Amino acid sequence: MGAQDKIALILVDIQNDFLERGSLAVADSNSILQRVNSLIRQVKTKNGLVIATKDWHPQNHVSFASNNADKQVFETKEIEYDGIKGLQVMWPDHCVQNTYGSELSKEINEKDIDFIVKKGMNYRVDSYSAFADNNYSEITSLAKILYQNHVDIVIIAGLAADFCVKFTCLDAIKFGFKTILIKECTKPVYEELFEPTLSELKAKGVSVLHFSETFVEHISDD
Ligand SMILES: [Zn+2]
Repeated sequence: MGAQDKIALILVDIQNDFLERGSLAVADSNSILQRVNSLIRQVKTKNGLVIATKDWHPQNHVSFASNNADKQVFETKEIEYDGIKGLQVMWPDHCVQNTYGSELSKEINEKDIDFIVKKGMNYRVDSYSAFADNNYSEITSLAKILYQNHVDIVIIAGLAADFCVKFTCLDAIKFGFKTILIKECTKPVYEELFEPTLSELKAKGVSVLHFSETFVEHISDD
């Protein structure tokens, strides 16, 4: 990587419902916030972009167990959309549009964020990746923002490691970006899925690296 490489930091779903005391709280998730703020400062120093994603569901979203009378929370259900069948996890209601739970953490300074990308608005299909829904029926604005800003490298952090962060990383590779996940800046829903997820991401070309206070300088130097 060269000194001219343009960096974008993608903050995945750092929203109240995924943080501690949220409706779909990820264990120990608040512990990433200080390190995420350091990444923001580091990326800004290198004139990089900061993009935050928001899970942004209507109340009738198919992923909510409350909308599937035959299912309990955390069970799975086969759903079909756009001719494609998939297994959908039944989540607690979370990140409903314009509620406190869907707001970004107050620990993140909104004025540092250059773009917000929303996902999961179509009530019939879930969207783990910030690039597209789970069926690729619709692509979000994220790839366009990255291409139009000539981004070479994406650094990914946020929640949760085994779902939205994982699929955002995999799509970042598919969309052609050098992709870095910072291990200490993400947390999983299921602790037992954390290491297998990281292994799968590495096998598919994602660099899983450790956080440091000088992280971004190092990636730009080599
Ligand atoms: Zn969701």
